Amino acid sequence: MEVYLIKPGELTLKGGNKADFEFVLKRNLREMLRGSHASIETTHGRYYVRTPPEGEQQVEGVLDRLMGISGWAKTRIAEKNPEAVCAACVDEAKALFDGGARSFKVNARRTDKSFPLDSYQLACAAGEAVTEAIPELTVDVHHPQNTIFVEIREKAYIYGFGRKGCGGLPVGTASRGLLLLSGGIDSPVAGYMMASRGMKIDAVYIHAYPYTSEEARQKVLRLAEIVGRYSMGIRLYTLGYTAIQMRIKEQAPEAWATVLLRMAMMEGAEKIARRRQSKCLITGESLSQVASQTVENIICTQSRLKLPVLRPLIGMHKEAIIRKACAIGTYETSILPYQDCCVLFSPPHPVLRGDPAEANRLYEALELGAMIDTAVRESVMEKCGFP
Ligand code: ATP
Ligand code: MG
Repeated sequence: MEVYLIKPGELTLKGGNKADFEFVLKRNLREMLRGSHASIETTHGRYYVRTPPEGEQQVEGVLDRLMGISGWAKTRIAEKNPEAVCAACVDEAKALFDGGARSFKVNARRTDKSFPLDSYQLACAAGEAVTEAIPELTVDVHHPQNTIFVEIREKAYIYGFGRKGCGGLPVGTASRGLLLLSGGIDSPVAGYMMASRGMKIDAVYIHAYPYTSEEARQKVLRLAEIVGRYSMGIRLYTLGYTAIQMRIKEQAPEAWATVLLRMAMMEGAEKIARRRQSKCLITGESLSQVASQTVENIICTQSRLKLPVLRPLIGMHKEAIIRKACAIGTYETSILPYQDCCVLFSPPHPVLRGDPAEANRLYEALELGAMIDTAVRESVMEKCGFP
């Protein structure tokens, strides 16, 4: 059996709510591991996952996507006596050495006070055992390339190589939000970020077939799939807005088309949100990134809404958003060529600082209400990325 040790993240800080957070974390982990032969064990605020060796890859993939943990490590388990612990440290050190490490230190902790060596003595003994077995590896207590952790608890755990987790909070501890998901780079990152704060998310995609292609929709579906693997699944609602876009194009001043379409998207999204008892909308907007994302135009697009709009990327630079998209695995899909909005509907000279009163007057004149209701009623829901 392989054993993984999981270090919970911020939830160690959550005082009175800690038990609830732990409950959700464990439930999420169990759900993500469903269908595997792995088992979960919790003792003293620690989580361990055991798996037969063939399940290793799957478990590591799950731990890399589990929100609410600061890190994880594959651990060795030794008998609780100094010789066995030192021998396990030597094995771990060999693995680190093979991985390129040339300096190390041992960090030992003893919660079981019946163990014959105290933490300091154990660290020294393990350090000596390692340097004796692998003379090329030197002890460096200040700037080691690797640290071997030893924990003497109900068993002796020894681990070196560890990986950072997603951090944040377990999905399902912070209510529900509805993400406006396009095929771009930003909105999948925005969804990921809210999920990493514990929010359960659904998504809505506004489609204008045939002006936006079936490939564009497939791309959004694929993005929902990727984000959904972190967020315990996503329900993606696709809304057909072709008729709405046509009416805006035919009847509204060209320069206003984008702002008016955004207002219509928000209205449709809010209706879906109500159905799902979502408490907020989420977008991938970032200040001044494009014409529709000036403060004035953002004020226009949210001016008719009751629900708040959360914009986790609002102060982020494009490079940072791209880095995050690469890290979570959405970037490659986002840059596929299929556009989520058609140039036909994008004015060459859009309004940059729309006046909300003017925006509302133009919007109301379009009388889109019934068309939006139809789009919502005929929306198609798909479940993506469920564990
Ligand atoms: P993204 O990379 O997320 O597409 P963007 O920089 O292209 O963002 P816009 O196209 O102005 O910016 O979109 C702003 C936000 O509006 C998006 O982040 C997304 O939340 C939402 N949005 C845009 N187009 C759609 C769409 N077709 N369906 C659903 N939401 C959309
Ligand atoms: Mg876009």
